[in-house]
Amino acid sequence: MPKLKEDCWICKSLHDPAHLVFFESPTSVGKLNPDQFFKGYSFVTLKWHSEELYQLSDKDRKSFLEDMSRVARALSEVFNPDKMNYELLGNGMPHLHWHLIPRYKTDPLWGRPIWTGTRQRKRFSREDYQRVVDRIRATLGK
Ligand SMILES: [Zn+2]
Repeated sequence: MPKLKEDCWICKSLHDPAHLVFFESPTSVGKLNPDQFFKGYSFVTLKWHSEELYQLSDKDRKSFLEDMSRVARALSEVFNPDKMNYELLGNGMPHLHWHLIPRYKTDPLWGRPIWTGTRQRKRFSREDYQRVVDRIRATLGK
């Protein structure tokens, strides 16, 4: 059975904050980043503690990649970005989670990784998060 790790905050907050979660499979949870400076910025997080892609079984790795791709496609449909960035870093906490970052030619860091400059954070109202979550869910359900 896949295991959670006691001192990992990602393990502890898989479904938090609950109002940002828009996707769940046996392998992953998809949710919005509370910071929506990049419209549609989302995470797809492995549902148990593992630190490297190569440590997953072929089956788990395949479903983790499929989930990520499925969510990326839905985000592209909803937000219509000019490019999608896929990042799997784990420097802050080594628990496998994808950063899916829709990029727009209008964004101030266009052409560069999002980590290379400073940016303001952008928070939505509860209603606006809900609206976005509903749109992604509807698109995933198609
Ligand atoms: Zn963890």
